[in-house]
Amino acid sequence: MSESFLPTANPSAWLGVMGGGQLGRMFAHAAQAMGYKVAVLEPSQDCPAGQVAERLIKASYLDANGLAELAQACVAVTTEFENVPADSMAWLGERSFVAPSASCVSIAQDRIAEKRFFVECAPSSGVMPAPHKTIASHADIDAIDDELLPGILKTVRMGYDGKGQVRVRTREDVRAAFDAMQGVTCLLEKMLPLAYEVSVLTARGHDGASVVYPIAENVHRDGILFTTTVPGPNVSEACAKQAQDAARAIVAQLGYVGVLCIEFFVLQDGTLVVNEMAPRPHNSGHYTIDACVTSQFAQQVRAMARLPLGDVRQHSPAVMLNILGDVWFEGGSEGDATAAREPAWDRVLALPGANLHLYGKDDPRRARKMGHLTFVAPTLEEAQAGLRQACAILGIPE
Ligand code: ATP
Ligand code: MG
Repeated sequence: MSESFLPTANPSAWLGVMGGGQLGRMFAHAAQAMGYKVAVLEPSQDCPAGQVAERLIKASYLDANGLAELAQACVAVTTEFENVPADSMAWLGERSFVAPSASCVSIAQDRIAEKRFFVECAPSSGVMPAPHKTIASHADIDAIDDELLPGILKTVRMGYDGKGQVRVRTREDVRAAFDAMQGVTCLLEKMLPLAYEVSVLTARGHDGASVVYPIAENVHRDGILFTTTVPGPNVSEACAKQAQDAARAIVAQLGYVGVLCIEFFVLQDGTLVVNEMAPRPHNSGHYTIDACVTSQFAQQVRAMARLPLGDVRQHSPAVMLNILGDVWFEGGSEGDATAAREPAWDRVLALPGANLHLYGKDDPRRARKMGHLTFVAPTLEEAQAGLRQACAILGIPE
């Protein structure tokens, strides 16, 4: 819907979100804190966002009746997950104010379109993605440049938490991996020598104003984000500035409205490489809830309600730890226990600077994101010390 006809969405109005996961839950918390009511469209009845929203529209993401109900109830709609059908966002966009737009979402959900966009953006962003090639057939595999190997074969759509990815050394490996993925279109990326990984969270309003959060340093374990540290111990001022400038250029060139997170690699020679972007708040931005003036979720509310964006200033150094279902089991990820028991939250919360966020999932499973823990402190060292003690209590190997 043309935004020029729409006034700012005032608190007490309804805001809608596609998807009922933890990002939708934390969005609902932020929206409700500002006085909005929240409607969630999600196929499953018991979901983290559905537990807190004023209304749960239980429908598939493509269901015309469900979408109509959401558009009718809400003055603005957003998404909490990347793989929301872009067609549904487009349909909603004709009936309500939708941020981010269907076109931005569709670029972020397709690795080929995303890489193409990053290359187009390079003159203004100053950063390139990893060298890559689309693999849609055996002929494409025959034509691989040796320079791209060893590499990582990634499915073009639906990948997350390292799923849909295979490390490949030779052309034969690529063929076997491509066949194992049943011939879905893939992207082969050159394996780069990473020194560390960072992400930059940014938000842009409908008026073109944008904000960029401090750069976050991320550590992954088994393909899943393990910790985010801000300020990042490895991040130089020059690197932070380059990544933030790149993020500003990317969000502007996209014409994006909403919260966008961009992941980068920093190579061993210091080169910054853009990896991927998420058209929504991001796991690496959870620290903003406890450590910044405006959290990424409050920022999402402001952008979709066409309010001024909030102050991104970080008031405390912070470390965020993802809490996976593993910690409900004796021995954590190393153990083989099958009986779940509640972790010792009382001991964790006795640690100075601890902020516990659990997502209301009552079925802990290994590798499932159940919550996160953010330590804030006057110094980064103190925050990191808190995190180490929490890991010891929870049985998480460091
Ligand atoms: P998520 O959605 O959880 O961020 P994903 O499944 O979409 O992840 P990527 O972020 O592309 O996938 O890759 C997951 C991890 O694999 C990266 O964080 C990085 O550690 C490693 N990785 C990916 N691509 C490369 C590369 N070209 N060279 C070296 N390491 C890589
Ligand atoms: Mg990633």
